[in-house]
Amino acid sequence: MLFMILAVFFGWLIFRELISSTPKDSVSLGYMGVCLLLAVLSIWKPASIWLLERKMTEVVHVLADNKPTKVRCEGVVESIFDRTPMTWAGYTYFDTGDVVFKAGWCKQLKRYLKNPDKADQRVRYSVMLLVHEAMHVRGERDEQLTECQAIQRYYRTARMLGVPEDTAKKHGLLYYTTYFPQHPYYSPKCAPGTSMDEELPDSLWQFLHQA
Ligand SMILES: [Zn+2]
Repeated sequence: MLFMILAVFFGWLIFRELISSTPKDSVSLGYMGVCLLLAVLSIWKPASIWLLERKMTEVVHVLADNKPTKVRCEGVVESIFDRTPMTWAGYTYFDTGDVVFKAGWCKQLKRYLKNPDKADQRVRYSVMLLVHEAMHVRGERDEQLTECQAIQRYYRTARMLGVPEDTAKKHGLLYYTTYFPQHPYYSPKCAPGTSMDEELPDSLWQFLHQA
């Protein structure tokens, strides 16, 4: 919001200069050039967040069997006034299907998409977060089932986000075999051939032999 206000402010400075009676000499043109540059820089961040939110919304919509949803990236200031009980990562409004990524988590996903091969565990987890919330949008409320459904769709999600095939497999398997057993939503029943196995054609578990 702050960046949008700044963009409007610099736009207004340009407009004011344009309609003023002062001669449009090199000083005036230079001034307007600087204002234009600052306006573009100010709008760059909100525009890139908007594009990311749009992409995340599309992915969640498909993963959630086309249920209505809207993914939103919470800003730092906004998070201060966020009174929902979730204090970490993200959450879903079950009544509307809307998803909120808490402050900093959209940045992690952005980092991941920019360079997935260099991503650390926290950055990689942003993909799990997206697919986990998508499973809530799909209708699942039980956290262990939600996480297990998300794991099975990790590969699908990463590919939808444009992550290369090998990286999508590697990171999904790494999460399932290494980090998931330490997760609060871990269940030993989340494994191939169990009641939690949805037998998806593109399940991450198809690649378990490569782990
Ligand atoms: Zn959850």
